[in-house]
Amino acid sequence: MRQCTAVALLPPPDHLITLAAEPGHILCELATDHPGDHATMLWDEGGPTGGAVWARWNTHRARLIPLPWCLALDPRKEACELFADHPSPHSWDITDPTHEAITHDLARQHPHLFPGTPEIAERTEEEDGS
Ligand SMILES: [Zn+2]
Ligand SMILES: [Zn+2]
Repeated sequence: MRQCTAVALLPPPDHLITLAAEPGHILCELATDHPGDHATMLWDEGGPTGGAVWARWNTHRARLIPLPWCLALDPRKEACELFADHPSPHSWDITDPTHEAITHDLARQHPHLFPGTPEIAERTEEEDGS
């Protein structure tokens, strides 16, 4: 499933300017066509309770809210990178088309750095053999 392409310009509250290195545009991290507000993780709160502060927005408003992490684990025991009770699939089922394209390009140039992508490695070998 593709990542949602919603973008918002977040006007940083004064007390956040020192915390956020690059306040400005935020990209939704949920899957495309998700119900409800868009969501972007701003910073990890850490600590014993865990959780992170998220920007949730729609066409009318934006708000910052602390949310606990989604507790789901994928088959490799990797934690979902979204908040608890998020709409749309877990983070490992969402692919960012931009990130995907960059990764694909890097894998073609440096196949030894991407041993887990046999398709790309094969294709590169064919090109090298010409
Ligand atoms: Zn969204
Ligand atoms: Zn999840």
